[in-house]
Amino acid sequence: LAYFANIPQAPPDGILKLSVMSKADPSPEKVDLGVGAYRDDAGSPWVLPVVNKAQKRLEADPAFNHEYLAIGGLPALTGGAQSLMFGADSPAVDERRVYSIQTISGTGANMLAAVFLKQFGQPQDAAVYISKPTWGNHRSIFQTAGHEVREYRYCNYDTLGLDIDGMLADLRAAPKGQIVVLHACAHNPTGIDPTAAQWQQIADVMAERSHFPFFDCAYQGFATGDVDRDAYAVRLFVSRGFELLVAQSFAKNMGLYGERTGCLHAVTQSADLVPAVSSQLNRLSRATISTASAYGAKVAGVVLQDPALYAEWLDNMAEMSSRIKTMRDLLRDKLVALGTPGSWDHVTRQIGMFSFTGLSKPQVAALKEQYHLYMTEDGRISVAGLNSGNIDYVARSIDAVVR
Ligand code: PLP
Repeated sequence: LAYFANIPQAPPDGILKLSVMSKADPSPEKVDLGVGAYRDDAGSPWVLPVVNKAQKRLEADPAFNHEYLAIGGLPALTGGAQSLMFGADSPAVDERRVYSIQTISGTGANMLAAVFLKQFGQPQDAAVYISKPTWGNHRSIFQTAGHEVREYRYCNYDTLGLDIDGMLADLRAAPKGQIVVLHACAHNPTGIDPTAAQWQQIADVMAERSHFPFFDCAYQGFATGDVDRDAYAVRLFVSRGFELLVAQSFAKNMGLYGERTGCLHAVTQSADLVPAVSSQLNRLSRATISTASAYGAKVAGVVLQDPALYAEWLDNMAEMSSRIKTMRDLLRDKLVALGTPGSWDHVTRQIGMFSFTGLSKPQVAALKEQYHLYMTEDGRISVAGLNSGNIDYVARSIDAVVR
């Protein structure tokens, strides 16, 4: 018998499959609203102007080389990322009770957190609770690390808003001390975020039930254009005294997708816990990736550490988030103008890269087959794929399949 003979076929990844189908479609009318990557108004990937500048500066530096980074990563990145996430005047950072380690972007930070929590989670048999729905990779990552994964209610599928009562009830009903995955902002795939008051309620229940918060932050600054506002939930939980982990990605907000730039932050109760926590995170990182990727970290490090470039980065993010917001407004307005059945206000209420349109599976299939319009089966569109050249066509196509 062949050694590999008993291996079953893994299920295909929905997003990657969609992207292959879209690439293979030669139609000039094709619109790809699948992958969560920013596109400019011409439909092209955008290298942030500030990233371009940072790259030029790096490459002009005679000391530039390709040596390995240190085990925890590049301090210019991890230090800058820490201030970005927790605020420049964060008491937790001042009290030296935060450890930040560089990871393979947000996915690597999720996996490092998953492996760490499997070994050191309290209680040891705690399950991981993810929102229904969530980023497709959450379940896979936590299961791969050996966790039992359960869901809490999140989306109200009738209103396409937050099911706050269902969410709180599920978190309350869970055994004490579970691990809860929370999207810091710009929830993927729904674009539905709790309000500030709802975050308070979530924190109340999490504290009451001694749950452990794991924040996944893949869109800071990309959601509202304001990095502090997008860090509200994380900072709220820290200010309320939670210990927690935060995965942070620079894929979307700095456009460094393929450079794999990110961090995992551990906020502990006191500074004397940091040596052990950091030593274990370093050990697990060493065992899985040895050292993190250097190039993106150096680029991001320059941007985060140079005040002028940092200010320019904030502008670049505001440009991306405002273009996306304009596209949301236009799509809603055009559907309303066409008299498309249903309410479309959720498109503008939602936030970040995605909109959960409420289109059904058959409608999504018809859009693909008849109109060359690609989106995930759950009706999620990447709003960044809309632009002034295709928005009319997209609105008319949606109108046609909804009628
Ligand atoms: N977490 C969420 C919620 C995401 O949406 C994404 C990207 O789509 C990621 C994490 C990880 O992205 P990356 O590994 O490219 O940083």
